[in-house]
Amino acid sequence: MNRKRLYIILVVLIIPISVFILKDEAYSDPINKANSKVTAVKEKGPENKARELRIKVEEGDVFSVIALRAGIDEKQALDLYEKVKSVYDFADLKIGHEFIFNRDENDNLVKIIYNIDDERELIISRENNENWQSRINAIDYEIREKVVEGQLDGSLYESALKQGADEKAVIQFAESLEYSIDFANDPREGDRYKFIYEERYRDGKYVMPGRVLAGAYLNGEKLHQSFYYKTSAGGYDYYDENGNAVQKKFLRAPLSFKYISSPFTLGKRYVDKFGLATKHQAVDYVASAGTPIRAVGDGVVVSAGWSTVGYGNMTKIKHDGVYSTLYAHQSKILVKKGERVSQGQVIGYVGSTGFSTGPHLHLEMSKNGVNINPAQEILPPGKPINANDRDNFNKMLQNMKNKIKI
Ligand SMILES: [Zn+2]
Repeated sequence: MNRKRLYIILVVLIIPISVFILKDEAYSDPINKANSKVTAVKEKGPENKARELRIKVEEGDVFSVIALRAGIDEKQALDLYEKVKSVYDFADLKIGHEFIFNRDENDNLVKIIYNIDDERELIISRENNENWQSRINAIDYEIREKVVEGQLDGSLYESALKQGADEKAVIQFAESLEYSIDFANDPREGDRYKFIYEERYRDGKYVMPGRVLAGAYLNGEKLHQSFYYKTSAGGYDYYDENGNAVQKKFLRAPLSFKYISSPFTLGKRYVDKFGLATKHQAVDYVASAGTPIRAVGDGVVVSAGWSTVGYGNMTKIKHDGVYSTLYAHQSKILVKKGERVSQGQVIGYVGSTGFSTGPHLHLEMSKNGVNINPAQEILPPGKPINANDRDNFNKMLQNMKNKIKI
């Protein structure tokens, strides 16, 4: 019995060792064997045996738990926590962010890296077992420019994804144009677009998109363009080709571009257009129940609640002495009468309350008390770029305009 157990233990120990040796043999290159031994010592040195362990923060994780997973005992974890606190508080860990633990050839912990966000990383390190030093570094990405170009056969969103664009970049591009395009009602089949964005790479691997630098969208005959520009004062914004900020008093649609799946089919099927003759002096947006509704502009909620005239759950916002907007048939209202709201703020969700045949958002815009078609309202341009930024802006404009020519 004892002998059998000993045999099992030996087999368990020997198998992994022999596999390791075999693997090592199999991977060594006989021709470069002699040389590689030398270079390995010279160039890589002890780091050959150094280890790197990556751990992602999961729900409910605290630093001590992650440290334990990395083989750091509670006492050392607490010690680290206290030492780093003045630079970064580990109480503020974010789910999905990564820790990298580095150990040297003697299995001593020498470095910890924590990805604080997309721009910064925390580095805690020590040399020769001395005191831990911590600092926050800006992450140094390699930037490549990517051009995405296409023609609409569904929504811009679907089309751009098919062209291999990063979803975040597509959304950024669309958001820079949603003061001039209503992505639910304006797109036509065959519309063309082109945009250019930064891709961030680290160690040769694509990580995420950076800024969309410029974009163009040809809607029927009308060309819409936006250009990213960082001002001399350090601020940044998107501007049109005349140097006016793209942001205007109102967003063109109360639903975010990403919730609008296919404008062509929706247009044919369901959307009730603005019409004085039909007495439908509003724009309807078909969307699934629960889609967030955004305030199209800054303002004050003047009414929020159940309507007695068929609007169901309804919110009305007064934007200034001239304009108001009304959002009807909501499944839920998130704001209260008297509350200030800002442009783009989610004020409720799409529903089918009141006189409604299916989930949609009924939007009315009134000017001096009279309902108007928001699509035809010409709004004043956004804020112009500062005079002292004009020359630099024009240089960028010339360059980018060529790059996004459709
Ligand atoms: Zn309607």
